[in-house]
Amino acid sequence: MKYNRCGKSGLLLPAVSLGLWHNFGGVDVFELGRGIIRKAFEAGITHFDLANNYGPPAGSAEENFGQILKKDFGGFLRDQLVISTKAGYTMWDGPYGDWGSRKYLITSLEQSLKRMQLDYVDIFYSHRPDPSTPIEETMGALDQAVRQGKALYAGISNYNAQETKAAVAVLKKLGTPCLIHQPKYSMFERWVENELLDVLQTEGIGCIPFSPLAQGLLTDRYLKGIPADSRAGKPTGFLKSSEVNEEKLSKVRKLNSIAEGRQQSLSQMAIAWLLKKEVITSVLIGVSSEEQLNNNIRVLDKLSFTTDELNGIEKILN
Ligand code: NDP
Repeated sequence: MKYNRCGKSGLLLPAVSLGLWHNFGGVDVFELGRGIIRKAFEAGITHFDLANNYGPPAGSAEENFGQILKKDFGGFLRDQLVISTKAGYTMWDGPYGDWGSRKYLITSLEQSLKRMQLDYVDIFYSHRPDPSTPIEETMGALDQAVRQGKALYAGISNYNAQETKAAVAVLKKLGTPCLIHQPKYSMFERWVENELLDVLQTEGIGCIPFSPLAQGLLTDRYLKGIPADSRAGKPTGFLKSSEVNEEKLSKVRKLNSIAEGRQQSLSQMAIAWLLKKEVITSVLIGVSSEEQLNNNIRVLDKLSFTTDELNGIEKILN
């Protein structure tokens, strides 16, 4: 594994990190998820990303992860892991289980720690900006979590460039710098390139793109139809079958042939394409099998691109 410094902080993150949004919930096979996490750690993936609502049902990914930690990572191995969680999307009924109030963030973190059977997480995120709560309150909650020792670092996710600037300024004032930003970023989703990446670079904040494979579209998964066990094929999957359309697939086929020319899988090329920017600390992948994990990690064998390859990719994407 290759480890990259997260912005200007002291923290190193693996170039590839693993997220538990899909495939680790109560509806999934526990032993499959357990096997993936063990393999990931053996391959040097030290960073695992969760959120209060991952499952389904919401909370079950954290519960399962807690059990896996206890069974396989007991004792000193905790110090070799960087575990993140988040609060910001709907988690429980009533007015306090959603968005960005101090009430929600602090109580949700407490629940996450219980589910994972941990004393602290390494990174606690505000999962999304809340237009109805003062940014001072939301960032104040992250700062409080760090000061209480329940999180080591603060992060933000899904904040646009302006929201990021505001959040970063407040955190700076409070003395708990923003460590990392987690935006949606892939060959198919490039909104961050307009302004956000420049803000992160200037501020010395790390970037960890989520859904780097566009939930599986940027792989060979859908080249021969929609498999029943795929994210678009499963009833609990977030990728809708309507998103697996000919417009996307024609691009995927062309990108796949560039990847073949590089003697790389399309998923490896999609990850390498993100890692080539200095501001990208780590790429946050999801996988549904050990085979996919092994394939994706081999991205490290070939990270560089020729100018011709990059131009060819741009032509397809535009
Ligand atoms: P990806 O874009 O990496 O999609 C993962 C899916 O792609 C897998 O489940 C699998 O689909 C398919 N796949 C992966 N590798 C391969 C391969 N080698 N060959 C074929 N198919 C492959 O990421 P996710 O959308 O899962 O997001 C990653 C993480 O990002 C999440 O777990 C979560 O931690 C974080 N996230 C954060 C959000 C936020 O708001 N902050 C929102 C969404 C995600 P299949 O299951 O069909 O096999």
